[in-house]
Amino acid sequence: MSEISNLLSDVLGGHRLTEAEATRLLDTRGREVFQIASAADEMRERHVGDIVTYVKNQNLHVTNICKNLCGFCGFGRSAGDEGAYCNDKAAIQAKVHLALKRGVTEICPLSGVHPEFTIDTYCDLITWVHEVGSHIHLHAFSPDEVSHAASRSNLSSAEVLGRLKAAGLGSLQGTAAEILVDSVRKVICPRKLGTAEWVRIIKEAHTLGISSTATIMYGSYETAKDRAEHLGILRNIQDETHGFTELVPLSYIHTNTPLYKEGIARAGATGREDLLMIAVSRLFLDNFDNIQVPWGKLGLKMSQMTLMAGGNDLAGTMFSDDVTADAGASDADYLDPAVMERMVSDLGRTLQERTTLYELV
Ligand code: SF4
Repeated sequence: MSEISNLLSDVLGGHRLTEAEATRLLDTRGREVFQIASAADEMRERHVGDIVTYVKNQNLHVTNICKNLCGFCGFGRSAGDEGAYCNDKAAIQAKVHLALKRGVTEICPLSGVHPEFTIDTYCDLITWVHEVGSHIHLHAFSPDEVSHAASRSNLSSAEVLGRLKAAGLGSLQGTAAEILVDSVRKVICPRKLGTAEWVRIIKEAHTLGISSTATIMYGSYETAKDRAEHLGILRNIQDETHGFTELVPLSYIHTNTPLYKEGIARAGATGREDLLMIAVSRLFLDNFDNIQVPWGKLGLKMSQMTLMAGGNDLAGTMFSDDVTADAGASDADYLDPAVMERMVSDLGRTLQERTTLYELV
C-alpha cells in the first residue's frame, strides 16, 4: 500500500490527522486525489448519513462601503467611490418583505465594514429585520464587525456580543477568517483583525451561547501548509467550545480583485484543490458534522463532485451574492431547490431543508 493509502486507512480507523499529514494530503496529485475523496465520502456517510441539507436563505447587502478594502475582494469600496451605497431602513425592510414572500427562514447580511457603524447600527439592523419578520433567523456579523463595533462604541467585544444577542442575533458569521495565519493576512487583508483576536471573539461568542459557522478562504496567496494550520485552529476551537455549526470552504474568486490584478495572488484554486479542500476538511475536522459545498463559488457541476468528496450541505438559496459577483463569478445569485434536488438525487442521496442550526425542516 502507498503512503497515502496507509494514512487514509489509519484515518478511517480513528487516527486524528496532524497538520503535516493534512498538508501532505492537500498537496496530493494524480489518482490518489480520488482515494482521498473516496475516504472523505466514507467519513461523511459515517458522520451524517446520506442526507444533503440546504437552508432557504437570502443575503442582505446593507452597504459596500468598507474600512478594510481587502486585496482579495472586488466588493468593498470607499465612501464616495463610484457605485458605493449604504441602504436605509426602508430599503432594508423592502428586501426583508421580499424574503418573506419567498419563504426564506434565514437572512444573512453580507456587507462592508462601514467605518461609521457602531453597536447601535448593528442592533438597529436586527430590529428592522425582525419588525418585518419576527421569526427570521439572523445569521449575521463577522468577528471583524464585532471588533469594529467594540472600538467604535467603547465596549468590550463580549459586551458587543451580549448586546447583539439581546437584540435578537441568531448566530454569528465565521467570516473574516480568510486564512488564520498572520503572515498571509498581512498580504491579503492587512486591515482586518489578526488571528488571535478572531479566535478570541469566536470563543467568546460560543461561550455566550452564540453559535457560528467556520470559514476558510483559499486559493489566493496561501500554501497548503497555511490551509492545514487554519484547519488546526478551527479543530482546536471546536474541541473546546463545540460552537461551530459547519465549515464553509470559500474558493477565492480572483478576476476583479486587486491582489490578482497586481500579480500577488494566483487565479484561484484549481478543481483538484477545490476537491481536496472539501475532502481533507472532512477527514481532518473529525469534530465537525457539516462541511458545506458553496455552489456560488464552485459552480453546480463541481459542487456535485464535492458532495462525493465529504460535503453534505448545499448552503442556501441565497438569491443574491454581490460579494462573489463583484469579484468576477458569473452564476452566484439564486439556486432553486428543484435544481439542488436534481443534483442530489442523481447521487442517490436525499435533499432535505434545514434551519440555520441544522434542525431538519
Ligand atoms: S472582504 Fe469584506 S471586509 Fe474585506 S473589503 Fe470586502 S467587504 Fe470589506
